[in-house]
Amino acid sequence: MTCPFLKEAQVRYCRCSTVRKLIPLSPAGHSDEKCSSESHASCPVYQSQPEEETAFGPCPYLRESLMQYCGAASVAKFVPYSESLLSRCGNDGYRYCELYLAMAHPGMPTEDVDGIPLPGWLQYSANHMWLDVTDDGSCHAGIDGFLSRALGTIDRITYVWLAGQHRPTAVITVAGTDLEVVFPNSFLLTKCNLYLRADPSKITTEPYTGGWLFEGVPAPETTDNLVRGSEARHWMEEEQRHMNEFLQQSGSHSQELGPSYCDGGLFASGVARHLDRDRLLALSHEFFSPYASRKGKSK
Ligand code: SF4
Ligand code: SF4
Repeated sequence: MTCPFLKEAQVRYCRCSTVRKLIPLSPAGHSDEKCSSESHASCPVYQSQPEEETAFGPCPYLRESLMQYCGAASVAKFVPYSESLLSRCGNDGYRYCELYLAMAHPGMPTEDVDGIPLPGWLQYSANHMWLDVTDDGSCHAGIDGFLSRALGTIDRITYVWLAGQHRPTAVITVAGTDLEVVFPNSFLLTKCNLYLRADPSKITTEPYTGGWLFEGVPAPETTDNLVRGSEARHWMEEEQRHMNEFLQQSGSHSQELGPSYCDGGLFASGVARHLDRDRLLALSHEFFSPYASRKGKSK
């Protein structure tokens, strides 16, 4: 899929000009500028050319091309057709473009498992991170709706690496405690969502869109042990059950947790902030460690 804001325009340009100025054609397909009429004979650039001289019709140095541009940008920047297909504008990567997100307000996905959003087009790791591999060969990763619900409000985020071949890692600070968030498989990290350093709220309010954490180029092993579809939905049901068991045990450890940790079977949003430091680290280790596995979790 291409970005809904990506538009096409037939443009004209001068083959001889050192600075390529693009002129969009009107819907009727004609323009009044001198390049497309006999007036081109008076153009100094035309006169300076040694060949292809003609005094009739449009200038022989006038070229036409099909370009694309971003309809959401305040100033249209034209890009050749082939280049837009390589950029995020021409494939599913548009979902992570700041401009698209600001203009389209896509909101939370409608697919969920008992109240936890779980988009079907993503792949999920056992430690509650998602991966989206798009058809341009790039990928994005972030935390899933389960982890974002558990964390609630985030104080800040720090990226361990900004580029390179790594297991992408960030440190998220919640209630003064630093928690590592690690994508469990390595990929070539090309970009981190640095907007989140100024405003980390999107990590939990828009975990699958504006709250993405890492962008990169996946290797074949990047998708190892990830699940999607019905397998992911079954796993998420199990994780909710497991979280409730964990919190019931924590209730006997923490006087402050009280009855607020559960909300009709679904753990309360921001439950991490109600845990003391030891239990918060235990929760992080149990559910969000890169060593988390779908089998053999302690009970
Ligand atoms: S008239 Fe011909 S040479 Fe002059 S600017 Fe237009 S296209 Fe270029
Ligand atoms: S810059 Fe962003 S909003 Fe504009 S076309 Fe590309 S992906 Fe869409």
